[in-house]
Amino acid sequence: MITKQANFYQSVERNFDKAAALTKHPKGLLEQIKVCNAIYQMNFPVKIGNNYQVIEAYRVQHSHHRLPTKGGIRFSHLVNQEEVMALASLMTYKCALVDVPFGGAKGGVKISPRKYTPEQLQKITRRYTVELVRKNFIGPGVDVPAPDYGTSSREMAWILDTYQQLNNGELDSAACVTGKPVNQNGIRGRTEATGRGVFYGLREMLSFKEDCKAMGLEPGIEGKTMVIQGLGNVGTYTGSISIEEGGVKVIGISEIEGTIVNPKGININKLVKYRRDKGTIIGFPGTTALKDRDDWIGLECDILVPAALESQITKINAKKVKARIIAEAANGPVTADAEAILLKKGVVIMPDMYLNAGGVTVSYFEWLKNLSHVRYGRIEKRFDQNAYTNLVTTVEELTGKTISTREKKMLTRGPDEIDLVRSGLEETMSTAYGQIREIYRRKKTVTDLRSAAFINAINKIASDYLTLGVFP
Ligand code: NAD
Repeated sequence: MITKQANFYQSVERNFDKAAALTKHPKGLLEQIKVCNAIYQMNFPVKIGNNYQVIEAYRVQHSHHRLPTKGGIRFSHLVNQEEVMALASLMTYKCALVDVPFGGAKGGVKISPRKYTPEQLQKITRRYTVELVRKNFIGPGVDVPAPDYGTSSREMAWILDTYQQLNNGELDSAACVTGKPVNQNGIRGRTEATGRGVFYGLREMLSFKEDCKAMGLEPGIEGKTMVIQGLGNVGTYTGSISIEEGGVKVIGISEIEGTIVNPKGININKLVKYRRDKGTIIGFPGTTALKDRDDWIGLECDILVPAALESQITKINAKKVKARIIAEAANGPVTADAEAILLKKGVVIMPDMYLNAGGVTVSYFEWLKNLSHVRYGRIEKRFDQNAYTNLVTTVEELTGKTISTREKKMLTRGPDEIDLVRSGLEETMSTAYGQIREIYRRKKTVTDLRSAAFINAINKIASDYLTLGVFP
């Protein structure tokens, strides 16, 4: 008999409670950290063709312990209040883990974006933004959206423009939303940031020899096999960066239309182009399609990367997992029930709230850039370049030896915005993993990385609340 499964929000609550029980914080404080602080459900009309449609949408601000609140906007026909609450909660813990000084939030618009033209999507996005402005649910110091499932920099540009029309002359208005196009006050490296962060997180984890030994794996990310569900923003960049910079072999890809495999490896960039032209991944040269799309879960590989939606690995299919590591690139892809089964099997789960925090980290850099009104690297690049050149020239003079022009160029290069963004992200992912690993190894009662991540986040948020004097 199949018993009812916990929904996404209940799963997040259960994971929170499991970790909270391992802390010493008072019950009331833990309750305050867990609950959603503000929930705004709206219905607004939009004229689509000759018809009027009522659109259901949400913005949830999970925690006001730090402001602004921050979190993406999802366009999906599956959006519902509890889903947005779960996603907003995860944002709070994610920000705390990677020391991004924001509270968590999330937005959702209950539409299937594929069913609308770009003009219709623009209408819906702009109207949604107006609703947020009217209720003071958006603003550089209030609540700052970003892209999520079903949205991209295009929607963020529409949000920015709508906000600016309603807040004429507000100096910092560009910081009202992140994930914008680079020519519209965005930042280089934001589009790829979540996938790049997933790669940095995995590489960091696999750099610890003793941890790899415990998992029965060779240390290092190079040569590891990977299967990815979802060839959207997060899945594509996770795959392509892992291949190009980590020497990973992606042997399986699952999308809406089916799952394809190639034990020799799949070229993700070529596959994306193929899908754009043909509308499907099926038939991509060198690959074979599985009979059942959902069999991606049971593929033999080192790392399984769910990068589509929540609740994909459940207590019904968890037993099929053969991978050693599940890398939660999506939010909530493994249910709490499934996690219990997987932990018993010895599968290591890299938790979403850590692993996909690259997006919000670079969004934070973008927000800072917007507030400072200057591109990263603009002020210091030439100064650094001159200083390095002087250093190299002095060493050459002192040693009587010279290096090639190519080597000199490499050694004396000042950093561009993209270099600084990537190094900031790498540092963030490495530091955060170090903190989680430390808790996991030190506390015998902590049985998994998710609980360790939760404990770290809870400790930081509790400390904020107590310092604020909210609980005198
Ligand atoms: P996206 O819309 O760009 O891509 C998602 C892809 O998953 C789409 O191509 C879709 O067709 C595919 N998909 C949906 N259902 C599927 C199924 N059953 N089987 C196979 N493929 C399926 O979305 P995204 O921005 O890449 O987000 C993916 C996940 O990552 C979400 O859980 C999101 O919350 C999370 N996330 C995104 C970001 C970000 O910066 N975009 C940051 C953190 C977390």
